[in-house]
Amino acid sequence: MTDDLEAFRAEARAWVRENAPKSLWGTSGSGPFDGYWGGSKCKETNPDILRWRDLAIEKSWTAPAWPKEYGGGGLSREQENILHEEMKAIAVPRPVAGQGLAMFGPVLLEYGNDAQRAQHLPGIARGQVRWCQGYSEPNAGSDLANLQLKAVHDGDELVLNGQKVWTSHADLSDWIYCLTRTDPNAPKKQMGISVILVDLDTPGITVRRIDLISGYSPFCETFFDNVRVPAGNLVGVENEGWTIAKAILGHERASIGRSIARQPGSAQREVVARARKHLALPEGAIPDPLLRDELAALGMLEEAFHLTLGRIQQSAESGTPGPEGSITKIVGSELKQRRFELGMQVAGTQGLGWEGPGFDEDDLQYTRDWLRSRASTIEGGSSEIQKNIVSKRVLGLPEGKK
Ligand SMILES: Cc1cc2nc3c(=O)[nH]c(=O)nc-3n(C[C@H](O)[C@H](O)[C@H](O)COP(=O)(O)OP(=O)(O)OC[C@H]3O[C@@H](n4cnc5c(N)ncnc54)[C@H](O)[C@@H]3O)c2cc1C
Repeated sequence: MTDDLEAFRAEARAWVRENAPKSLWGTSGSGPFDGYWGGSKCKETNPDILRWRDLAIEKSWTAPAWPKEYGGGGLSREQENILHEEMKAIAVPRPVAGQGLAMFGPVLLEYGNDAQRAQHLPGIARGQVRWCQGYSEPNAGSDLANLQLKAVHDGDELVLNGQKVWTSHADLSDWIYCLTRTDPNAPKKQMGISVILVDLDTPGITVRRIDLISGYSPFCETFFDNVRVPAGNLVGVENEGWTIAKAILGHERASIGRSIARQPGSAQREVVARARKHLALPEGAIPDPLLRDELAALGMLEEAFHLTLGRIQQSAESGTPGPEGSITKIVGSELKQRRFELGMQVAGTQGLGWEGPGFDEDDLQYTRDWLRSRASTIEGGSSEIQKNIVSKRVLGLPEGKK
């Protein structure tokens, strides 16, 4: 590492440790995205979370590598990585987080026009505007290019009709970036797709929550009934939105992988602590050789994951993650599931609590996090689809016979 970067690390470390409220240290690491998601519907009242956000905005370090004119810090990619490593070192959540910052904003920087960047990026960087993703439809999940949400020109407006599904947190978001079908007659289904930005308060939009058995659900169905938006809300080249869609997915997959990467060794330490608590084990070697074996395997997978993530991050020349992001998505989500499976196993019947007496808060939360971890191999594209991408675009293997 160069002297400049060493000096930056010292500055970043000092700033993070001086400004991150102590109550937030050690709290990062639950859920697929971590930190203040913001937006106009946000009801966050924790003063420490709000102070951390404000201090980072003042320093322009919520979107560290974005240009200063859009509310960013103008840092290099290496400096941004260092800053985030320093936050991770004390497990403090990002001061502002969410899809706008991690997925949509970076792609708008690359593919949007000046007016779109100026309109949308500063609000994202300050956590004032929350974005959600309008990709999946009832007949377009893994086969995303099958999407049918229709957008047609009418004067200087676009009119949208159709439906999205599994729109996480659409009920809490301000805007949605949608994949739409703008040319139904294109020769290939990947053609004729455009990315359109829609204010969720526009007349004709209905957002309906999909309740899950747990009573809690991030999911919504989002319906578009003659929704009119300015034609200027189309990003990039009309009918060539598939490239932008893939770029956003690249960021999504990389960010899911990154968000799972807590401090090296933390997954193993967490399960060891649970084993000591629930199996009443004293300090020292774990007596059960099978459990020791599983813990060692978890630790090795975790170490390999961190090394691979670091290597991919360092070799990324531009800000857009390549198909390698699919590797971190696969391994990261499997690591997360393995950590929770083992953590549940060692808890025995204490892992079965849902509510009520007899279970402490940590155990109840762990059970919920374990259930949530099941979704990580599906969201952002299932593991099977990621494996197809890695085999085709990273390893260069031939396609199988259809
Ligand atoms: C927690 C969570 C949050 C989500 N948030 C959003 C969101 O905000 N916005 C949004 O648009 N979508 C969202 N989704 C939807 C998500 O992108 C889809 O669930 C995912 O892409 C899979 O699509 P599907 O559910 O239609 O499954 P399907 O495509 O029906 O797949 C079913 C099964 O078949 C397998 N399969 C399908 N095709 C192939 C193939 N070619 N080769 C091998 N196996 C295959 C899949 O791996 C899977 O196991 C979210 C999903 C989850 C779980």
